[in-house]
Amino acid sequence: MFAGLRMLIRLLLRPVLGCLSLVLVLLGLAAPVWADFVLPPLPYDPSALEPAIDATTMTLHHDRHHAAYVANLNAQIAANPELKSLSLEALQGQIARFPAAVRNNGGGHWNHSQFWSVMAPAGQGGEPSEELLAAISSSFGSLEALQSQFNQSASARFGSGWAWLIRKPDGSLAITSTANQDNPLMDLPGIERGTPLLGLDVWEHAYYLNYQNRRPDYIAAWWPLLNWNEVNRRFAAAA
Ligand code: MN
Repeated sequence: MFAGLRMLIRLLLRPVLGCLSLVLVLLGLAAPVWADFVLPPLPYDPSALEPAIDATTMTLHHDRHHAAYVANLNAQIAANPELKSLSLEALQGQIARFPAAVRNNGGGHWNHSQFWSVMAPAGQGGEPSEELLAAISSSFGSLEALQSQFNQSASARFGSGWAWLIRKPDGSLAITSTANQDNPLMDLPGIERGTPLLGLDVWEHAYYLNYQNRRPDYIAAWWPLLNWNEVNRRFAAAA
């Protein structure tokens, strides 16, 4: 009697389990389709920022480092399927509820995507807008004072990280710095939150080939590459 019941249950369950495993296999096969985070192309030739940033550094930085953040973030989608319904930017503001691999690689992807866009070949980045200059004067006194404070923050970041100019929720501008691949959009303790207007990568991979340990020289050489047109756009969008 019990043996017959068990056999009946097994017979009934078999097609259910079969369907379930088929679904799992199909989901596994479909995983690459979920790879919705995409490496953006560099908006200029890798040699366009020379001599301040050499073509080899740019190529390695974009094609290897940034590409790895994107690939590693996509590899997290299967275990964190809610990533599929979040934009890269929206993810930053909810990063606290995700594991470290999503924080590191999601941050790395967002940070580098903005980094390429806030640089331009020297002489092609335009100037700060009147509105941005007014905000800079109000928050720092002058553009020179902003640069001095930014350079200090970027130089003083111990180990790997980023220096940022942000627009805070109260409308004022501020300089801040984050470790590793964190950024000011992240809902994490210890982060001064705001809308990033520009972020500078001070990881050694960003400058070591050309500058070795001379990070301040890299920072000084980087300013003429700043794409003020993009910073103006980010400032206007944040206001
Ligand atoms: Mn980097």
